[in-house]
Amino acid sequence: MATAAPARLLPEVEKFLAESPLKSVIGGKDVAAASGETMTTRDPGTGEPIAEFTVLSAAEVDQAVTAAADAFKRSGWATMTPNERGVHLHRLADAIEKHKPIIGQIESLDAGKILGQALGDVQNFVDTLRYFTDMAQHVQRRNVLAVAGHEAWTVRNPWGPCGFIFPWNFPFLLIGWGVSPALAAGNTCVIKPAEDTPLSAIYLARLAREAGIPDGVINVVTGTGAGAGAALSANPGLKRMSFTGSPEVGRLVGEACGRNLVPVKLELGGKGAAVVFDDVDVAATAEKLVGAITFHTGQVCCDATRWLVHKSIYDRFIDECRTRMQKVHVGHQLDGSSSMGPVVNAKQRARVLSYLEKGVAQGAQAVVEGGPAAVPGRDGYYVKPALLAGTLDNVAAREEIFGPVAYLASFSTEDEAVAMANDTDYGLANSVWTSDLGRAARVAESMVAGNSWINAHNLFPKGVPYGGVNKSGTGGGVNSIETLFDYWRSQSIVRPL
Ligand code: NAD
Repeated sequence: MATAAPARLLPEVEKFLAESPLKSVIGGKDVAAASGETMTTRDPGTGEPIAEFTVLSAAEVDQAVTAAADAFKRSGWATMTPNERGVHLHRLADAIEKHKPIIGQIESLDAGKILGQALGDVQNFVDTLRYFTDMAQHVQRRNVLAVAGHEAWTVRNPWGPCGFIFPWNFPFLLIGWGVSPALAAGNTCVIKPAEDTPLSAIYLARLAREAGIPDGVINVVTGTGAGAGAALSANPGLKRMSFTGSPEVGRLVGEACGRNLVPVKLELGGKGAAVVFDDVDVAATAEKLVGAITFHTGQVCCDATRWLVHKSIYDRFIDECRTRMQKVHVGHQLDGSSSMGPVVNAKQRARVLSYLEKGVAQGAQAVVEGGPAAVPGRDGYYVKPALLAGTLDNVAAREEIFGPVAYLASFSTEDEAVAMANDTDYGLANSVWTSDLGRAARVAESMVAGNSWINAHNLFPKGVPYGGVNKSGTGGGVNSIETLFDYWRSQSIVRPL
C-alpha cells in the first residue's frame, strides 16, 4: 500500500510495506490469520494508511506459545552455553545496527516519532541487547552455600516461553528492554506489539530469522488487545509475562496471569513531578523540562507532568517556559525541521484536548493554551504544547494525559514540595532540581516512586534499575542485573553429609 509520508522512504522500507498485509511470525514462519482478518496501521503525521497487518485469533496466539515452548525444549536455545547464545545475540544486535536506518524509518512512520528519536530507540535496543548478552556470560549462576552438615548450592536456569505485551509509544525500544534479558537468560518469547505500531516488531522477527536465531525463539503475534493480547495473557503455557501499558489493561493482564499463577511484571503509567527549588538556573531548568514534556510529544510514561516550582521563582519560570513552548516547531515526524511530531492517533489527540478542556473547566489557568496544531498539507494528529497552572486537585494534575501538557503549582518549603510530589496514586519517576546536593539527595529519597532523578529528567543508564511502584507497576522493573535474574528460576539443591 502506498504511503503518504512527505519524506522519501528508503527502498527497503518501501519493499517491506509493499508486502502488506504483513504477517505475524510464529515458529520462524510468516503466518496470516486463517480468517484473513487484517487491520490498518496509519502514519500519525498524515492519517494515511501505511500497511495492513494480520489479526490473529486466540487459537493462533496459542500456537505461538506452543512454538515458543517447543523451541525452548528442542532448539537447543535453552541449553546452549551463555557464550554460544551470546554469539547468536550479538549477531542479532549487529543485524539490527546494520539495519538501523530502515528500522528507524519504519518506527518513525508508524509511531509518529521524530526520525532522530526513532534512530536513537533502535540504537538503544542494540545497546540493551549487548548489555544483557554480555552480563549473562559473566554472572555466577551456580552458588555454593555454606550450611553446617550439608552440601548445598543454588543454580539458576531459564524458565521457558515468556509473553510480552507492549504499548505504542516506544515500540522498538521497549521490546529491547523487555526481551533482551529473557533471551540472554535462555528463554523463548512471544511478543504482542500494540495495534497502532506493529511494524518494527514484525521487522525484528524477520531479522532474527535471517541472523540465525533458532525458529520459535522470537515469535511476534499481531492483532487487537482484546483478542491477541488477552489470549496471550491467559495462556497457561507461559512461564512469565511482562506487560507495559496502561494501569487499566495492566490490571486485566495481572488478573489473567494470576489465574494461571504465571509471574507477571507490570510496567504502567505515571504522573511524575519535577520539584524545582529557587537556587536553580531558571532558564536552563525551563529548557530541560520543556524539552522533556515535548520529547515524543509528551507520550512518555515517566515524564515530569507536574512541575512544582518554588514560589520565589514561579513567575520567572513561567515566562521562560512560555517562550520555549511557543517556539516548538510542530511538524511531520520525517520532516527534518520538526521538533515535535504528532500524537499516535485521533483518539489520543482527542484525549489530550479533552484534558485541556476539563482542566480549565475545573479552574486551571491555561498559561500556554495548547490545542490542535495545524501543519500545512498534513492531516495528522497534531497538538501544541500546553502549560496549565493551579491547584493539584485538578483532573489535569491527577490523571495521566500522555501528551505535551504540563501542570504547574508553587510551593514554599521542602516538606510541602515533597508532600505535593507524593500526592498521587502513581509512583514511576520524579526529579528534583537544585544546586544544593544535600537537599537533592534528601528530596530524591523522600519521593515515593521507582526512580528519582537529580537535575535531569528521563535518565536510563544501563545497570540502573528502572520501574514503577504503586499504580505505576509491580514486578521489579527493567534494565539492571535484577532483570536478568528475573528470567532465571532459582533452584536449591541440598545433600546431608
Ligand atoms: P494500553 O494499556 O492501552 O495497551 C498496551 C498493550 O496492551 C497494547 O499492545 C494493547 O494491544 C494491549 N491490550 C489492550 N487490551 C488488552 C487486553 N484486554 N489484554 C491484553 N492486552 C491488551 O496502553 P497504550 O495506550 O498502548 O500505552 C500507553 C500507556 O503505557 C500509558 O499508560 C503509559 O504510561 C504506559 N507506559 C508505561 C511504560 C513503563 O515503562 N512504565 C512505558 C511505556 C508506556
